[in-house]
Amino acid sequence: MNLLKQRILSDGQCLDNGTLKVDNFINHQMDPALMMAMAQEIANRFENKGINKIVTIEASGIAPAILVGYLMQVPVVFAKKNVPSTMEHMISTPVFSFTKKRCYDVGISRNFLSADDHILFVDDFLANGNAAMGIIDIANKAGAQIAGMAFLIEKGFQNGRQKLLDMGIHIESLAIIKSLDNCTITFE
Ligand code: 5GP
Repeated sequence: MNLLKQRILSDGQCLDNGTLKVDNFINHQMDPALMMAMAQEIANRFENKGINKIVTIEASGIAPAILVGYLMQVPVVFAKKNVPSTMEHMISTPVFSFTKKRCYDVGISRNFLSADDHILFVDDFLANGNAAMGIIDIANKAGAQIAGMAFLIEKGFQNGRQKLLDMGIHIESLAIIKSLDNCTITFE
């Protein structure tokens, strides 16, 4: 998606640990017009796939997810982080956070995910696929089907895509970064 790629080039900053900082238009300050354009692109790519629910993980996935849900006219559920194991009706799984370098439990209530659901997972980044694998585990425990996964930005030099493709998941990413080497952003 050219609009997003241009914005990454003009406003994205690469950190030397393979992280792309986009907190002036996605992760902290948000650009609603760009966010809506990205949501429209995702909704178009997953049209007529029988999706009845959007799933994301708090916090950065919520903004794109709610817009995709609005456009596709389906509910949006976000997995909560640091779910106490005592919380009732929760389906939870441990996820390793790429940015925080630690593991935390994420969970979704059984009230909002069931075997009737065909979900589209929406998130800001795909890196090593840990967040996505966590959602696959939760969906499996709920008996829900994963119809696809959509990411605003994929870091193609990490192995998330391969893990998801190996599981037969349909992935769409709006911008795929080939390299951040020498702090130069290059796209695939
Ligand atoms: P994964 O679970 O695929 O390894 O990493 C994806 C998650 O980590 C995303 O939800 C995102 O919040 C965060 N993340 C991974 N890489 C980056 C990055 O380069 N920049 C930012 N801002 N977040 C990232």
